[in-house]
Amino acid sequence: MLHNKTVLLGVGSGPLTWVGVEVLRALQRAGARVRVLLSRDTEAFVPALTFQTLAGEQVITASDVYGTVVGEHVCPLAQVVQDSDALLMVPATPALLAKTAAACGDEALVRAVLLHRGPVVLAFPGQALEYQHPLVRQNLQRLREAGVVLYDQGIRETATAVDELGWVLSPQALVEAVAGCMQDTTSLAGKAVLITAGPTQEPIDPVRHISNRSSGKTGFALAAVARRRGARVILVTGPTHLEAPDGVHCIRIQTALEMRQAVLAHFDDVNAVIKTAAVADFRPQVSAEGKIKKEAAVLNIPLERNPDILAELGQKKGRQILVGFAAETQDLLNNARQKVQSKHLDFIVVNDVSDPRIGFASDDNRVRILDATGQVEELPMMSKTALAEHILDRVEALLGQQEGR
Ligand code: C5P
Repeated sequence: MLHNKTVLLGVGSGPLTWVGVEVLRALQRAGARVRVLLSRDTEAFVPALTFQTLAGEQVITASDVYGTVVGEHVCPLAQVVQDSDALLMVPATPALLAKTAAACGDEALVRAVLLHRGPVVLAFPGQALEYQHPLVRQNLQRLREAGVVLYDQGIRETATAVDELGWVLSPQALVEAVAGCMQDTTSLAGKAVLITAGPTQEPIDPVRHISNRSSGKTGFALAAVARRRGARVILVTGPTHLEAPDGVHCIRIQTALEMRQAVLAHFDDVNAVIKTAAVADFRPQVSAEGKIKKEAAVLNIPLERNPDILAELGQKKGRQILVGFAAETQDLLNNARQKVQSKHLDFIVVNDVSDPRIGFASDDNRVRILDATGQVEELPMMSKTALAEHILDRVEALLGQQEGR
C-alpha cells in the first residue's frame, strides 16, 4: 500500500505515545520508509531508542528544529521534510494541536508541518473529554480550514472511559488514512470544479440585509478536498469568516445576483459544479442608498424573487456534473426528488436542518444522497471533511463513467 513512500511520523507525548510504536510498525508493514520525529517529553513515555531501533534511522527530537547532525554533516529538517510524502502526527495531543494551529514551529515536529507541502494527518481520539473543549474545537477548525486532515476516530477501551487515558487509535486505520490521502493527490488532476458556499446577503440599506445561517463550512471543506485531489478549484462564496484553502481560486460575493454572475462566468470551463450555497430566495425590491431612519421606516419590505442559479445551470448543462444541496425541515426526500428532476441534477445532498446537532454551523453532518435514478444513500454522522471526500468520490465516479472508465 505504501511502497516507495516515505512517511514522517511525529509522535506526541502522553498516555497514547505507545500507539506511535504500533503505527510505526504498521507503516513499515505497509511498505513505507518511516522517519520518526519526537515531540517534547515523548521520550518520558517511550525512549527514543525504541523508535530508532525499529525505524533503523536516527530519530529527530524536539530540539532538532533546524536539522540533525549526522557524523560531521548537518542534515537540514527542510531536506528531511522535502524527501517525505506524508506527515502523520500521533497522538496529536491538545498541546500539539494548539501549537500547530498557531503555527508555533519552535519544535521540530511542528516546524515540519509548516515546511511540508504534502498531506498532513493529525490523529487523536476525538471523543475523549479534552478534545471536546471549545478551545480545542476552535483549534481543530483552524486546522481543518488550513487543509489538514483530522483523524478523530478513537476506539473506547473501557465503558467508563472519559479522557484520553481510556481511548486508543487503530494503527491499521491510520495507515489506510495516510494511504488514502496520498492517492488523492492526483485523482482529480486535469479537472475543474466550481463550488459555491455560504449564505448570500441581500441588502435592505447599507447596514441591513436579509440572509440565513449558513456557515460555509461544507463548501470550504469540499474546496480543500477537491484541491488536494489535484482539481483546479473555483470557490464562489458569500460572506463567511472562513479562510480559503491554499491553491483555491476564491471569489467572494455578497448577493445572489453577484453569485449568479460569477458562476455563469466559469460554468463553461468546469467539469462539475457543487452548489452548497444557501442562496437567499428573495431580495428587497429596492436597497436604500442611505441607512433607513427608524422613525421614517415603513414596516414592510417589498421583496422580489432571486433567480434560481442551479436551475439555470441545469438548463444550460452540457457534460458538467451538477450537485445540489437541500436543507429541509419536512418531507425531505420528496422535496429533494423534485429538485433533482426540476434542476437536472446528478445528485442532491439532503440535510435535515430541524436537528440542531447537525447541519449549518456544526462541524459534523448526517445526510442522505439522492441521485437522478431515484436511489437513496443514507450516510452516518461524519465530519464535513469526510462528507466532502464522499461527495467527491461520487463526482469522480460520474466523471469516470462519462469517460468510459
Ligand atoms: O433553495 P433550494 O432548496 O431549492 O436549494 C437547492 C439547491 O439549489 C442548492 O444547491 C442551492 O445552492 C441551489 N439554489 C440556487 N439558487 C437559488 C436557490 C437555490 O442555486 N436561488
